[in-house]
Amino acid sequence: MKINSAPLRRSSRLVFDKSKRVSEASDTIVAISTLTGFAGIGIVRLSGSSALRITSRIFHPISKKNVKKLPSRSVSLGKIFDGKKIIDEVLLTIMKAPKSYTREDVVEISCHGGMVPIRKTLELCIKHGARPADPGEFTKRAYLNGRIDLTQAEAVCDIIKAKTETALSCAMSQLNGGLSLGINEQKSELADILAALEVSIDYSEDDITVNDKEITKRIEKIRTRLTEILKTFDSGKIFREGVRTAIIGKPNVGKSSLLNVLVGQNKAIVTEIPGTTRDTIEGTIDISGMPLVLTDTAGIRKHSTDVVEKMGIERSRNTLDSADLVLMVLDSSSELTAEDFHIAELVAPKKVIIVLNKSDLKNRIGHLNDLKISAPAVQVSALRNEGIEKLKKSIHGLFVSGSVRTGDLILTNVRHKILIEGALDSLGNAVRSLRKGLSEEFTATDLRGALNCLGEITGEVPTEEILDRIFSNFCVGK
Ligand code: GDP
Repeated sequence: MKINSAPLRRSSRLVFDKSKRVSEASDTIVAISTLTGFAGIGIVRLSGSSALRITSRIFHPISKKNVKKLPSRSVSLGKIFDGKKIIDEVLLTIMKAPKSYTREDVVEISCHGGMVPIRKTLELCIKHGARPADPGEFTKRAYLNGRIDLTQAEAVCDIIKAKTETALSCAMSQLNGGLSLGINEQKSELADILAALEVSIDYSEDDITVNDKEITKRIEKIRTRLTEILKTFDSGKIFREGVRTAIIGKPNVGKSSLLNVLVGQNKAIVTEIPGTTRDTIEGTIDISGMPLVLTDTAGIRKHSTDVVEKMGIERSRNTLDSADLVLMVLDSSSELTAEDFHIAELVAPKKVIIVLNKSDLKNRIGHLNDLKISAPAVQVSALRNEGIEKLKKSIHGLFVSGSVRTGDLILTNVRHKILIEGALDSLGNAVRSLRKGLSEEFTATDLRGALNCLGEITGEVPTEEILDRIFSNFCVGK
């Protein structure tokens, strides 16, 4: 995987104490980097200064060459030994520092994909001095060693977790430095303005002054660009995490049937006895690149005596609370009932689409206005798979205005969003100070605040807490 190097100006300001960095850099980590289970191959990956030494203790190449002298970016066939006992026949890939993922010596051992050879190889590496890696520790090292910045490290996690191709494109653009580039442009303009202000402050007696109007204009331009980036967050978050969608309605209106046609497989059990969907059932679908995480819920009824059904109803309410979208299903072949009104009241504060199911039967539902809920309504027949495309379009339209061009800079990460908001706040204060004609010191302080926020996005001024939070979201072995 090729990673374009975005501007990296970090090492001089890292807040880690040196001793910690040295100890982090000197130990060699190991992890299983592939999914465990039955597979063709499984990879055990090592990174660190002892990676080759440890490998040489357990790997015997058929070429009989000295492992430590094998060239970088080479692949060698050989066997893993535990003393004299052969464990597995493997392929060894060597990537020597600094031309590796972590910029350290990296060794990847491709074992046969069963649990036993992979686990045994991992154990042997540990026995000979490697330490089990923490989640995301390989990528953390790539960051600490200056190979990628923080937004690129976060993108690696997003790539692994991408649910749709659009989410993948957003993450790839971030990995290629798209976000860093956008942020660094604003940062460098800010730094220029700040430098001019500081000169004016330092040499005020020498009549070196800045033009307040011109500076305000330049700051406004940065604010506009950052606001544009911020605006992409809503769709970015949706593409990354998906729209959590609750299918809600009284029993027997066709919720499970709707989930089934949407997901396209028989995930939920469909029966004719009211209240049979006792638990929540999930399915994820892709609507033009937007992941929809669907949850079918037990019917919400006001009174239920069945304990199991009661538990299901409780869960439905929790699902409703955390939903980004509610598909409120009604049976259009029968009149609205008190239960429908009760549900409409519950879901009213959410983004709702009313799904008028059973459109294949005679319509007896009456006026939807009586529900006192403002939501678009779509007619479908889950049974006959009719109206479903229209429903999908209506869902997409509710969350995405226009089409998302995947090459665009799209903000997907809450951490980045909060920091851009922080920068915008500081810039707003800077402009206000300038307009009020306050001392330039005030403006300079605000500009420094904005610069710090933007610097935190790319990881120029990381704290250990932030790094731990970011990398603990990774899987082990990445
Ligand atoms: P739920 O309790 O809301 O999950 O409802 P189900 O999906 O279990 O469906 C209840 C009954 O309605 C079943 O007999 C389904 O076959 C039937 N049903 C579901 N959707 C439709 C539809 O679009 N048209 C007709 N005629 N029947 C449907």
